[in-house]
Amino acid sequence: MKIVMLGAPGAGKGTQAKMIAAKYQVPHISSGDIFRTNIKNGTELGKKAKEYMDQGLLVPDELTVDLVIDRVSWEDCKNGYILDGFPRTIPQAEALDAALNKDGTADSGLDFAINVDVPDENIVRRMSGRRACLKCGATYHIIYNPSKKGDICEACGDTLVLRDDDKPETVQKRLAVYHEQTQPLIDYYDGQNILKTVDGTQDMNDVFAAIIRILEA
Ligand code: ADP
Ligand code: AMP
Repeated sequence: MKIVMLGAPGAGKGTQAKMIAAKYQVPHISSGDIFRTNIKNGTELGKKAKEYMDQGLLVPDELTVDLVIDRVSWEDCKNGYILDGFPRTIPQAEALDAALNKDGTADSGLDFAINVDVPDENIVRRMSGRRACLKCGATYHIIYNPSKKGDICEACGDTLVLRDDDKPETVQKRLAVYHEQTQPLIDYYDGQNILKTVDGTQDMNDVFAAIIRILEA
């Protein structure tokens, strides 16, 4: 099972990707989490990525593509994976297809591109209430999905934070970048006949049920 999650920042890609990964026992690969881990660890990549992320911009493809394509080649990905936040540009999608097509077959092997559809009006509210654990990658929402331990991560005990790039002014920029650079992937994967769209404004369990119906149809 190889799945790409599509949708605006804050649409619920990560939330759903984690639930799918847990149900089907495949890795959840989030490019944003990989960058945030690098930032936390003070790596050169983290320093470079942070400059773009804090402005709401995409990290350049040169710093992103090889990183994720290498990750999907790991042993734990042999039965599939859920890609969350990658690809985010047409060149990234083409590079992924090329990497997956290495054996010369026409089929990239991706099973589904799941587009979690949420209008811009809902996004700012979602993002301002999102609380993230930078240690284990868990995500909460102060109203829709609060941690039972307040501002402490239920999974690992670290303190939850409002991400620097979830401040309203940065969210507006990220939405504009999404519409310009990432939304075209909807047509790209529709052209490959693997696009499925779900209504992401529903309760997260209902979104998950809709995704499961697609995966098990
Ligand atoms: P993305 O990975 O697309 O950026 P997240 O999965 O982190 O988005 O979700 C953004 C915020 O919205 C998080 O705080 C999350 O808990 C919350 N959220 C996710 N799905 C829903 C939903 N269906 N309804 C309400 N809030 C949601
Ligand atoms: P996310 O955690 O998916 O919301 O990503 C947070 C930020 O990381 C984005 O706003 C980008 O700056 C950067 N990022 C994550 N994935 C990518 C990608 N595939 N291409 C470029 N930038 C990315």
